[in-house]
Amino acid sequence: MKRQSSYKDDGGKLYLVPTPIGNLEDITIRAKNILTDADYIAAEDTRTSGILLEKIGVHNRMISFHKYNSKQKAPELIELMKKGAVIAEISDAGMPVISDPGFILVEECIKNDIPVIPLPGPSAFTTALIASGFDAQPFTYYGFLPRKASEQIPYFEQMNKFRGTSIFYESPHRLSKTLDNLAKVLAPDRQICAARELTKIHEEFIRGSIEEVNAYFKENDPRGEFVVLVSPNTAEEKQFSFDELIKLVNDLVDQGKSKKDAIKQVAKAHNVSKNELYDAYHQ
Ligand code: SAM
Repeated sequence: MKRQSSYKDDGGKLYLVPTPIGNLEDITIRAKNILTDADYIAAEDTRTSGILLEKIGVHNRMISFHKYNSKQKAPELIELMKKGAVIAEISDAGMPVISDPGFILVEECIKNDIPVIPLPGPSAFTTALIASGFDAQPFTYYGFLPRKASEQIPYFEQMNKFRGTSIFYESPHRLSKTLDNLAKVLAPDRQICAARELTKIHEEFIRGSIEEVNAYFKENDPRGEFVVLVSPNTAEEKQFSFDELIKLVNDLVDQGKSKKDAIKQVAKAHNVSKNELYDAYHQ
C-alpha cells in the first residue's frame, strides 16, 4: 500500500492538466496558473500546444512527450522530478491519459513516490455523455475501437448487452463504416448519439436509431471530431424455465455437444446453477 498526500511537500511532482477540446475559454484559472508556474510543460505536440499557450498568455519551457517517445522520455522526466522539478503534462486537447499520452509517466511517478496531481477539466467523452440524453450511470468508455470490422464486432457485442451507455471515439472518415458494423450487431432501432465538434461553432448532436443516424451520414459526409454513444440495453431479460433450458441443452446435444458440455454452456449463458440444471435434466 502507498499513500500520496498531493499538497504536503514542495518537492518534484507531476500535474496532469486538461486543455480545451475546442473552446479556449474552457481552460481553468488553475490550469493556467499551473502551466505558468511549472518548471516544464511536457506537451504531446509542442507546436499545437505552443499556439494554445500563446493564446492564453502562458510562456514556459516545453518538453516534447508523445506516444512514440514516451517510453524513452519518461525516465528523463522522472529524473527531473526526483531533483525537485514540477512538470505539467498536457496533450493536444482534453484530458491527458484519456486516449492520449501520459499513462506511462503516471505509472513511473507512482513507482518512484512522486505525487501525481490531476486537474479536473474538459474531456470529449464526458462532455458528450452529459448531453447525449442517455443515462450517465453506468457507462463504459472504449476510446478508439480497432479499425477492422472483425475486431470491432466483439466490442459491439458487449455494447449490445450492456445495460449502461457505451461511448467510443471515431474519426470522421471511418464513422460511416463503423456505423455499418454497429448495425450488423445491434437492433436497427437501438438509439445512438453522434456528438460532433463539441464546444466549437459547429457543435451538433445527431440523435436517433442506428438506422436513422447511419442513413443520415450516408447522405451527409461526417466532418469534424466525433464521439459516438450507444444507449443502454433496456430490453426485458427473458427468464427461461428449466423446461426451456432443457430444450436448449437438447438442441446443443443434437448439434454434437456432449451432455456435460451442453449443460455447462446453457447454465453459464443463462446464469443458473450447473448442478441444478444437471438434476433437472436427469429427472
Ligand atoms: N484526450 C482527449 C479527451 O480527453 O477527450 C481525447 C484525445 S483523442 C486523441 C481525440 C479524439 O477525441 C477525437 O478523434 C474525437 O473522437 C474526440 N474529440 C476530441 N475533441 C472533440 C470535440 N471537440 N468534439 C467531439 N469529439 C472530440
